Amino acid sequence: MVFENLSNKLQDTFKRLRGMGKLSEKNIEESLREVRLALLEADVNFKVVKDFIATVKERSIGQEVLNSLTPGQQVIKIVYEELTKLMGEHEAPLKLADRPPTIVMLVGLQGAGKTSTAGKMAGLLKKQGRRPLLIAADIYRPAAIKQLQVLGGQLDIPVFSLEGADPVKIARQGVEYAIAYQRDLVIIDTAGRLHVNEELMNELKEIQARVNPHEILLVIDAMTGQDAVNVANSFQETLGLTGVILTKLDSDTRGGAALSVRAVTKAPIKYVGLGEKMENLEVFHPSRMASRVLGMGDVLTLIEKAQSNIDPGKAKNIFDKMRKAEFTLDDFLDQLREMKKMGPLDQILGMLPGNMSKQLKGVQVNEKEMVKVEAIIQSMTKQERANPSIINGSRRRRIAVGSGTTVQDVNRILQQFEQSRKMMKQFADMGGKGKMPKLPF
Ligand code: GDP
Repeated sequence: MVFENLSNKLQDTFKRLRGMGKLSEKNIEESLREVRLALLEADVNFKVVKDFIATVKERSIGQEVLNSLTPGQQVIKIVYEELTKLMGEHEAPLKLADRPPTIVMLVGLQGAGKTSTAGKMAGLLKKQGRRPLLIAADIYRPAAIKQLQVLGGQLDIPVFSLEGADPVKIARQGVEYAIAYQRDLVIIDTAGRLHVNEELMNELKEIQARVNPHEILLVIDAMTGQDAVNVANSFQETLGLTGVILTKLDSDTRGGAALSVRAVTKAPIKYVGLGEKMENLEVFHPSRMASRVLGMGDVLTLIEKAQSNIDPGKAKNIFDKMRKAEFTLDDFLDQLREMKKMGPLDQILGMLPGNMSKQLKGVQVNEKEMVKVEAIIQSMTKQERANPSIINGSRRRRIAVGSGTTVQDVNRILQQFEQSRKMMKQFADMGGKGKMPKLPF
């Protein structure tokens, strides 16, 4: 998951910083040197790092921090605030036109994820009550039009295309079609190239001039690191971007692009792509991302994900039981089934604060494991499920035989149950107070 390395390094630095009762300028400088290195290693733009460290240092060396009772904590808070600012401070919602349709033009290099993002965006906005139209203006990549048509079909969103026409004509006529058929949002998927070149820019400028889009969003692949920032700069200079969409943040990228692109181009990051599926596009929240980078997790996104994927009755039930410490193995099984609906476990773990995500590292929720867990829990008696503490050695052997597993399997599931119980208790406490978690380091 993106930022894992950076996040681990920063957490180590801050753990040491927090351990110090009093801070001197020298301590702060040393810690900031480590932060600087960690950011550079994460492929954050050199100049961005320099400015960032200078600001954090200036704020940290102020009397307010040095005289504070918790100086380490204050420095971490400053880093968190400055990271949030670096990524744009606030969410940047899509600008909707006063008179529909709102016209959004997606631009970017080939393979950045434009076509899939066009589909994802249309799907997301449809869920919010818009009536999107997709326009297939990428006539150079042979599969692009077909790809968009397939996505449109899956999402039940119309796709406008025009065989044999040039991209400018397709875009213009597509917008006319949207007006005629009362579609209130138009997303134009334009052609990319392997590199930024004049031909591409001229074509995009012409489309821009003819359809006058409300938003020109650059789709960039976060995996390309520093290059992504250079590409963004070229597009910014030629077209004047209104925003950026960073894709592939689910991959093992170092994350530098996410931290630099806003500072370098001044264009806000509006959405992030977190997977290949149509639902893997999210509004970008700078503060939540900063929280993730610092290992504080992203509990707000997790709660939102839970709300949209999990059966609310079940979730409340599990939650209530957690609070009253009545969580049983039956509930554990329910919880695993519900969690599986939220997506791959490593993504969920990435959203939990550092210590919790470490506690849960061993828990697996794949299909095979689920079958085992079910068999094991079903081989227990009612009393055992309600009160796992009575499950001694001979009971464990009986359960293993009954479920066709081994005693080690049974031990592991019981251990995971315990971890899950502890973790959920912390989570319930946090959610109950409706607060962000405390810094875990
Ligand atoms: P285009 O040439 O810019 O239109 O790029 P495509 O939309 O065809 O995407 C190129 C590849 O990247 C496809 O295999 C997509 O499934 C993949 N892709 C796009 N966005 C994401 C993302 O957020 N995460 C991951 N893992 N893959 C993505």
